[in-house]
Amino acid sequence: VEVRKNILKKNDALAAELRERFRRAGVFVVSLVSSPGAGKTAFLEVTLRHLRERWRVGALVGDLATDNDARRLVRSGADVQQITTGTVCHLDADMVGRALEKWDLDAYDLLFIENVGNLVCPASYDLGENLRVVLMSVTEGEDKPLKYPTIFNTADLAVITKADLADAVEFRRDDAYANVRSVHPGIRVVETSTRWADGLAPWFRQLEQWLATEVRTPTAVRSTSRATLP
Ligand code: MG
Ligand code: ZN
Repeated sequence: VEVRKNILKKNDALAAELRERFRRAGVFVVSLVSSPGAGKTAFLEVTLRHLRERWRVGALVGDLATDNDARRLVRSGADVQQITTGTVCHLDADMVGRALEKWDLDAYDLLFIENVGNLVCPASYDLGENLRVVLMSVTEGEDKPLKYPTIFNTADLAVITKADLADAVEFRRDDAYANVRSVHPGIRVVETSTRWADGLAPWFRQLEQWLATEVRTPTAVRSTSRATLP
C-alpha cells in the first residue's frame, strides 16, 4: 500500500506539471476511459472527424500491445500518437508527458487521450486532463457503475455508447441512469451511437458547451486530485 501511495503521489506531481503545460499552451484536454470493447475508438474516430473542421485536434491512444486503434484514428485526419503500455493496464502522467515531448502543444486547441480499456486503475491516475469522460455501452449491463464506482465518480461526463443496440439487448435505461447517479450524483449522462447519422450530437453539444466556457478561460483548470485509492 505504501509503495502504491508513493507511485500515485509521484503521478499527481507529474500530472500537475502536465496540466500547467496544457494551460500555457491553451490546449483543452479530454480523457476517455471505459472497459475494453465499449467503443471508445469508434467514438473517438467520429469525434475527431467532426471537430477537425473547426478545431486543431490531436489524440493519444493507449493500448497494451497493438497499434490497431491508432491506425483507425489516423483515418480521421487528426494527429494521432500511440502509447504502447506493454503489460501496464493504464496510462500514467509520465507516459503522456513523454509522448508529448515530440509535439508542439501550441499547435493544438484540443487533445484527446484514449486510455487503455480498463475501469479500475485509470481512476487513480490523473493525466493532467481538464475533463474525464467515462463510456459505457448498452451491451455491458446497467450495473457497471455499481461495480466500478470510482471511475464513474471521478468522471465529469458519462457517455452511453452503442445506443442503436439498446432495444436488441433490452437495455434498461432508467436503471442505468440511476446507477450512474447513485455513485456520482448530478453527473450528466448522454446517449450516443456511431451508427446513426448525428448519433454523437448530444456529446458534441456537451463538448461545445465546455469549449465555450473553458477554452476561453484557460485558467479555469481542474485542481482536484484524483489520487483516490481503489
Ligand atoms: Mg480502443
Ligand atoms: Zn493498471
